[in-house]
Amino acid sequence: MKRSKHSNIPIFIPELACPHQCVFCDQEKISGSFHIPSPDEVPAVIEQYLDTMSNDRLIDIAFFGGNFTGISIERMEEYLSKVCKFVEDGKVDGIRLSTRPDYIDVERLQLLKRYSVTTIELGAQSTNDKVLQKAGRGHDAKATRNASELILDYGFRLGLQMMIGLPGDSFETSLQTAYDIVDFGASNTRIYPAIVVKGTTLEKLYNKGKYKPLELDEAVQWTKSILEVFENNDVDILRVGLHPSEELIKGKSFVAGPFHPSFKELVMTEKWKEMLKKELNNKNPKRLSIKVNPAQLNYAIGYKSYNRKWMLDQGMLVKFLSDPNLKKYEFDVSYN
Ligand code: SF4
Repeated sequence: MKRSKHSNIPIFIPELACPHQCVFCDQEKISGSFHIPSPDEVPAVIEQYLDTMSNDRLIDIAFFGGNFTGISIERMEEYLSKVCKFVEDGKVDGIRLSTRPDYIDVERLQLLKRYSVTTIELGAQSTNDKVLQKAGRGHDAKATRNASELILDYGFRLGLQMMIGLPGDSFETSLQTAYDIVDFGASNTRIYPAIVVKGTTLEKLYNKGKYKPLELDEAVQWTKSILEVFENNDVDILRVGLHPSEELIKGKSFVAGPFHPSFKELVMTEKWKEMLKKELNNKNPKRLSIKVNPAQLNYAIGYKSYNRKWMLDQGMLVKFLSDPNLKKYEFDVSYN
């Protein structure tokens, strides 16, 4: 059976007492409010997830939390020895983890290889040194390039995550980051707009008027262009926009910035608006129907029917239909 859909079994292991000071990060929350499973607890967590997952999916065990390779070699080994048997037994397809570029070296990679890790995701955030410095990342773009090279040399799949709208960022530097991520050899990526969260340095800068987050519209437009860079270069986009956690949705930790629970939908709505505007340029039909691939139907209609509505405002009565024979961004318009 061909399995194209993918699921992660997330295991959250933050690096306690992280020595870095990224301006967007609330370390206290990270280290204080999560139960961190011990290595002995992890197999039961995985079994629980497996019980609820259908076997037509590709399944990875994913160590999230930012800096997995920042924990001690001994501790890493304790965790990995508990999970690699799930790969050996064929119960899951791989192990992925996220970490910082400056926590990658030969010793760590050899250990990860021994324990069947398949994918390493690095928080690149930006490839502009000024942006990295202002973000307090504590590493430069060269560190990301070098770590990426080493990860690929050791035969892992490489993921590079980026943030847009950090202090000092611009549309041009964020687009360059996307091109660099392609150039560094990433096979997957995640795009996060920077937002101001309570308890962070960014909040202090924001309150003093020294940092202005992107407007939502701006973040959507930047992301639309970045998305195209990745799509044109076959980099899988695993996530667009922050995960709408309860904290963010209820506004408990959110201060300001381009957070939206349907951020990806907004970006795809814009993408389709642009394509449809180009097609309809100067035609102004009274009635039309547009066929698109079923997976794109909601995006073509738009978030809260945004695209249907702007067409109606222009006097166009539009019917959207799905056609599985059409590819992702193909569409077929009939004027009737
Ligand atoms: S985002 Fe930065 S400060 Fe926060 S845990 Fe990761 S490396 Fe440490």
